[in-house]
Amino acid sequence: MNIIQNLDEWQAIRESIPNSDSIGFVPTMGCLHQGHASLIKQSTADNALTIVSLFVNPTQFNNNSDFQNYPITFDSDCELANRYGADYLLVPDKQAMYPDGNKIGFSINHEFAKILEGEYRNNHFNGVLTVVMKLLNLVRPQQLYLGEKDYQQYVLLDHMVKNYFIPTRVIMCPTIRDASGLALSSRNQRLSEKEQHLARQFAQLLHQCSASSLEQTKQAMIDLGIQPEYLEVHNDRLFAAAYIKDVRLIDNILLTENENVNLDA
Ligand code: AMP
Repeated sequence: MNIIQNLDEWQAIRESIPNSDSIGFVPTMGCLHQGHASLIKQSTADNALTIVSLFVNPTQFNNNSDFQNYPITFDSDCELANRYGADYLLVPDKQAMYPDGNKIGFSINHEFAKILEGEYRNNHFNGVLTVVMKLLNLVRPQQLYLGEKDYQQYVLLDHMVKNYFIPTRVIMCPTIRDASGLALSSRNQRLSEKEQHLARQFAQLLHQCSASSLEQTKQAMIDLGIQPEYLEVHNDRLFAAAYIKDVRLIDNILLTENENVNLDA
């Protein structure tokens, strides 16, 4: 696996890749775990080349301390990406990604970007769409792999790709969970043992929750010492965000076998 930090070097490499080689792309913010590994595995199974990016994108953080405390585990990230078959690991810095300081970023007006994460994290999706658009232009993949764990992000990125006529197929990969049902997340690393126990209880409550028991579930979380931010059902999918101390966790679960949200329909 080649680790590339310089974007000029990457663009020269990208030019030399024959059009016949299909490229799969897995954008990440690092601190890689088995959730990321599942995306990389799917990409290596589907494509001749797999590119993974590792960039903690400052423009998608609404809270500076969340950004400052985002876990960085560079050596083990390289090891994991390599182990699961990535061909290139792109690790650009902020100056390279935002040479103009983000003066030409997205400003999304879609209603689906204003609820859930969009409601509680000001500018979050503007930052996500901006950085992924930049990365897609750098990588020009045939396939983009995203996790169901961030379902709202997947729906909005899929919408962006279609509405900007980007020739990339967006593939959603299922959420990887631990044995208790807790979705793997880089932020779980910041939880103490006692808080991890709470996080597992949070996941169990979500798995028992239905559209008619939202208020009871919220109260059960509060009683345990978890601070729910939202617990809502949209299109038969349960969405949750909660704080365990200062660590914010999100998850979502499809309550029925209904279709996924399609903003283009
Ligand atoms: P992140 O590094 O958190 O920005 O995530 C990078 C990609 O990995 C996103 O597409 C996430 O949805 C996906 N991802 C993160 N956690 C999981 C998980 N537990 N299962 C599946 N995909 C995940």
